[in-house]
Amino acid sequence: MTKAEILAKAGKEKRSLLTEIESKELLKAARIPVVETRLATSKKEAMEIAVKLGFPVVMKIVSPDVVHKSDAGGVKLSIQNASQAGRAYSEILANIKKHYPKAKITGVTVQKMAKQGIEVIIGMTKDAQFGPVIMFGLGGILVEVLKDVSFRIVPMTKRDASEMIGEIKGYPILKGYRGQDPADIPFLEDLIVKVSQFVDKNPEIKELDLNPVFAYKDGALAVDARIILESAA
Ligand code: ADP
Ligand code: MG
Repeated sequence: MTKAEILAKAGKEKRSLLTEIESKELLKAARIPVVETRLATSKKEAMEIAVKLGFPVVMKIVSPDVVHKSDAGGVKLSIQNASQAGRAYSEILANIKKHYPKAKITGVTVQKMAKQGIEVIIGMTKDAQFGPVIMFGLGGILVEVLKDVSFRIVPMTKRDASEMIGEIKGYPILKGYRGQDPADIPFLEDLIVKVSQFVDKNPEIKELDLNPVFAYKDGALAVDARIILESAA
């Protein structure tokens, strides 16, 4: 789907939360690396897509009423074969029905299971005064508990991106701590600048979250993406 089609569909459904698939499509079109992700609307289709993508795969709920997918049992990792994919489909739907009996269910994504990297988060929120502001930090507990993040106002230069990466307390982890692989910092700088350009060119986006991005020795890949649109006037 094109951007126009995605926005039209969301508008028609009075939905400000784009699905993970829609979010990733917009990002991919802006050449921001995202893991390959397809939508399945039946168990059979999920199994077929999984076989086509090649194992292992990850499956996740797609619902406009579920923002935090794993909290509701809506994410299954490390699926190794077609029968596991079939079972994961049923389990995800059962979990969501239990947690959110009224949730509208669009389907389930099937995506390639990305190899583990250092989890980072790149986000955007809009400040009443400054407009779009980009956030960067390490993923997981470091962002949730320690709030170890840095911020910059859009538009951003590569230098801004470099500084914001260097500012976080977890920076030594990105440099490769105790023999762990380092992150590709120049790639992350480019990625942050691309995200800042993306939000600058798409003012209809109110909030953006790439959480997590897996940072590798070479490159990086967003495995989850969430875009919230400005509500239509
Ligand atoms: P949530 O809506 O709960 O944020 P995520 O899509 O971020 O759901 O998935 C939860 C976790 O599962 C991620 O933080 C990441 O560690 C892992 N994960 C998600 N998608 C993939 C993937 N395609 N490959 C590998 N790991 C993944
Ligand atoms: Mg996530």
